[in-house]
Amino acid sequence: MSSEAGDRRAALADLPSVDEVLKSPESLDLLANFPRRVVIQSIRNVIDSRRRAILASQVADFSRSNLFKDIAENIDRLLSFSLVSVINATGVVLHTNLGRSPLSEGVLDNVMKVGMGYSNLEYDLETGKRGQRHVHTGRLLRDITGAEDAIIVNNNAAAVLLCLNTLAKDREVIVSRGELVEIGGSFRVPDVMASSNAVLREVGTTNKTHLHDYSNAINEKTALILKVHQSNYKIVGFTSDVGFDELVSLGGKHGIPVMYDLGSGCLLDLTPVGIRSEPSVAEIIKKGIDLVTFSGDKLLGGPQGGVIAGRKRFIEKIRKNPLARAVRVDKLTIAAFEATLMEYMDTEKAVKKIPVLDMLFQSPSEIQSRAGKIAAGLEMQIPKGLIEVLEDSSMAGGGSLPDTKFPTFSVSISPSPMSVNELELSLRKGQPPVIARIKDDALILDARTIRDHEIETVINAVAAALAGQ
Ligand SMILES: *Cc1c(COP(=O)(O)O)cnc(C)c1O
Repeated sequence: MSSEAGDRRAALADLPSVDEVLKSPESLDLLANFPRRVVIQSIRNVIDSRRRAILASQVADFSRSNLFKDIAENIDRLLSFSLVSVINATGVVLHTNLGRSPLSEGVLDNVMKVGMGYSNLEYDLETGKRGQRHVHTGRLLRDITGAEDAIIVNNNAAAVLLCLNTLAKDREVIVSRGELVEIGGSFRVPDVMASSNAVLREVGTTNKTHLHDYSNAINEKTALILKVHQSNYKIVGFTSDVGFDELVSLGGKHGIPVMYDLGSGCLLDLTPVGIRSEPSVAEIIKKGIDLVTFSGDKLLGGPQGGVIAGRKRFIEKIRKNPLARAVRVDKLTIAAFEATLMEYMDTEKAVKKIPVLDMLFQSPSEIQSRAGKIAAGLEMQIPKGLIEVLEDSSMAGGGSLPDTKFPTFSVSISPSPMSVNELELSLRKGQPPVIARIKDDALILDARTIRDHEIETVINAVAAALAGQ
């Protein structure tokens, strides 16, 4: 036997059993402070990891004092939450990976009220009989969008799936080739179409689709004409697509409904804040589109959800589809949705009260002042030369407003001697994590998405990271 194998065998034999560790006085301390199953799990995890380390001939400190340090760290890890709040310093307001739209305190108050007790979720207080969960958001959605009826499902992907399955199962849906899009994270129009058992009938070309492309494709199997918002990309140059008016009149002539997967779904007229490229849902409904689908947590600024708005007779059919039960929303979502929609009843205040709209449409001077505060705070703690406030631009994110650049201000930090990658990592691993961008060897903190109450935390996080703490 080689001496190495002998050492390894000795080290393995030295490993204590879970029971032995559990009976030690140090464990009694742990058991007094933490749940028994967590302590046992951690002891097992640490012993297992030592066994693996020995077998892999890794050199480590296998001492008894270190054993309890490792166990304590492991307990800490087992009892920490996986989903935690982070500070978004990317400037991307609708950041899909960071949970898209933050909710206001007022909205969360309502979630708490409804969630803490019982509610009339499916109970009609007038008649004392069973009610419908859709009524709680239906009225507000009708008022705000002007649609005859509307329901909410789990997300917009589910909304599209449900519409296609209800109206076009085993029949054809006409879509322009320029609109067969993929939206980040696996929503692809042809795939959703296949999952819904509708048959995709592609027309036109990537850059140009004409009205006659649609009309030539109509046959006895046609169930629906679908238009899809291109969301996260833009075809520019030699292009043309067919407008709502023409599609609606074509559909009307043949008795075929027209649906629009709008994606983002803006509930406000954004022209007062300088956006002309994104018509509101109400404007689209007014054009006579039969069904519109959009997300709850993009420009709308609410919880995750998918709205289906349009003609009553279609919505009724959709509601009765067994799939609707599979993609229905829970009471917490409805509570958050209703409270968010309620904010839209005051059109003037909505832009300030809904966090997503507030962050997107705050004035550049407000952002500049926040960036200035962050930079000034940092300059008190770290060498001046490393910090600069830069004029920059941010994107809305979430496939919303792809052709709009929002003027912003960022704090740029060029760390030294620490590398910018080390700084980024350290901030990301901090508590709370601060998520930033790297550009040209500098760390960029975009002040658009840093909230006022987070300024202090960001300053301290950067200072601590730069100090190597
Ligand atoms: C974002 C988007 C979707 C997916 O919406 P989710 O709410 O994320 O499911 C579908 N279609 C379009 C056009 C989109 O922009």
